[in-house]
Amino acid sequence: VRFHDLGLPLEVMRAIHDLGFEYCSPIQGRSLPHTLNGHDLVGKAQTGTGKTAAFLVTVIDDLLKHPFEGERYAGEARSLIIAPTRELVMQIADDARDLCKYTDLEIHTLVGGMDYEKQQRNLNERLVDILVATPGRLLDFVGNRDCYLDQAEVLVIDEADRMLDMGFIPQVRRIVRQTPRKTHRQTMFFSATFTPEVDSLVEQWTDEPVVIEI
Ligand code: AMP
Repeated sequence: VRFHDLGLPLEVMRAIHDLGFEYCSPIQGRSLPHTLNGHDLVGKAQTGTGKTAAFLVTVIDDLLKHPFEGERYAGEARSLIIAPTRELVMQIADDARDLCKYTDLEIHTLVGGMDYEKQQRNLNERLVDILVATPGRLLDFVGNRDCYLDQAEVLVIDEADRMLDMGFIPQVRRIVRQTPRKTHRQTMFFSATFTPEVDSLVEQWTDEPVVIEI
């Protein structure tokens, strides 16, 4: 599958061209035709497969094609990507900035170990189209009403198995509860391994997903 054939917005195509991507990687080619139509996705894929671009292109396409109607509030995220570590959050946000460079979408990160008040000021100043966060800090923001997830129409859970291993699932569960119901949001769920515990999260958080194993 070529990116050219997916009907992506011109500003996304230009960014993909600048990155030197022409052909979809296997996970991209198998997931994008479904996720671009709004289907939920469960991806069994490791790092290095191009899964990041697969979910980012879906998020960006959705945000550009469905501009938010109504009043927007500071701290209210239109899409949310949760990942287990600060490094992964930063990597995802960098990739998002590359793919969004010809758009006016706003990308924000929330990670632990960084100054809360500085992150709070940043979030309060601007609208948030794409929020990339680790679970603990994000839950602090949600609990303090510094961040709102009830308008998050796309939810990405990356490296779910690692979040389980790190003990983050209770926090992730509370975060997911703040987003629209699963029938009212698009959910993309990634994990390198699937255990009964991971399967149970898939069952709870996704709605008739397309399942792709790479
Ligand atoms: P990821 O698995 O998301 O960490 O991506 C692995 C690497 O592959 C990243 O450096 C991407 O920039 C690169 N990449 C992703 N998709 C493509 C593609 N379709 N063509 C070439 N490189 C890609």
